Amino acid sequence: MKPLSPDTLAAQGMGWIAEPSHDLAPPIHPSSTFERAADGSYPGGRVYARDQSPAYEQPEALLAALEGGHEALLFPSGMAAATALIQALEPGARVLAPRAMYWSLRNWLQELARRGQIALDFYDNTDGEALTALLGTLPPRLLWIETPANPTWEVTDIAAACAAARAAGTLVAVDSTVPTPVLSRPLALGADFVMHSATKYLNGHSDVVAGALVCRADSPVWQRVRQNRAQGGAVLGPFEAWLLLRGMRTLHLRVRQSCAAAQRIAETFQADPRLAAVLYPGLPGHPGHAVAAAQMQGGFGGMLSLRVVGGEAAAVAAIGRLQVFKRATSLGSVESLVEHRASVEGPGTLCPPDLLRLSIGIEAVDDLIADLDQALGAS
Ligand SMILES: *Cc1c(COP(=O)(O)O)cnc(C)c1O
Repeated sequence: MKPLSPDTLAAQGMGWIAEPSHDLAPPIHPSSTFERAADGSYPGGRVYARDQSPAYEQPEALLAALEGGHEALLFPSGMAAATALIQALEPGARVLAPRAMYWSLRNWLQELARRGQIALDFYDNTDGEALTALLGTLPPRLLWIETPANPTWEVTDIAAACAAARAAGTLVAVDSTVPTPVLSRPLALGADFVMHSATKYLNGHSDVVAGALVCRADSPVWQRVRQNRAQGGAVLGPFEAWLLLRGMRTLHLRVRQSCAAAQRIAETFQADPRLAAVLYPGLPGHPGHAVAAAQMQGGFGGMLSLRVVGGEAAAVAAIGRLQVFKRATSLGSVESLVEHRASVEGPGTLCPPDLLRLSIGIEAVDDLIADLDQALGAS
């Protein structure tokens, strides 16, 4: 038989069956410690649950398989995963990050730079040639990529960036929270690491905070990542790991439904006179559309942003009128979320004040379109 497709692996949670009762749903492993035999050995192969919890094995194996990676490690949040990787670099290592990216991580990198733990430079997400030039001249230890990037959804050409990074001796990490392994496989395009906020699509139900790193191959940096988790001790709880695996079993269905609905919504409103712009890489007029079409399979993601005519006041009034969309931060869940991103990001935000960020869930798309239509009001 040919290797099983990712859809099958996810639906069956790798197809693992637990002994001795042959459960199709995996057990929850709350134990913090493991028995030692009279001869001093550990018959279960584990000593202590910080970093050795059997609860991680199945979701980590599934995520590594979905990303086509060597190994995956779970963390108690996406931020903890990113931090574990940054801290695995040499002190003072130079990090090159995109101007548009997940706001909290951007702020955290700037704080680490102020503390002297890293040196930090930014590149323009929309200018691949400038990125290549920076990689040649700096050159950084780590290139951070987020594509499509929060909250304006610029697209970075992962393969081109990885080729330039390799020539410069730079490692590449991709925050693939938004596309998920259903749509994008950065390791196959040359990235060294993939990072996820598993809080988002991987879990998909707004009931777990978790994160993950996946590596393409073992390396000294990856060994330090492992050590950061084992000794730094930022570990996920067993029940969260169990919920995460449960969520991942429907990942493909949820992501495809969200993508199809986001595409419909973007097409429905792209020429709407009440909007200054619809930002979505699935629209042919989006500057990153061709690259996104080449490096994303099966859709352009479930995230899009609307810029409302009339500026911040009109955007805030429209979000207040929404009834089906839930006003909340976060993304990638079964229910659709909306936020006025600039006020969530706060002082110093680069986000346009007229922008509403939408995370499209799995509701009937006609309900979502009708809700947006009434909220935008008479033109
Ligand atoms: C949410 C998010 C993060 C941070 O993850 P947490 O699980 O909230 O710590 C990082 N990157 C992106 C793109 C995100 O959406």
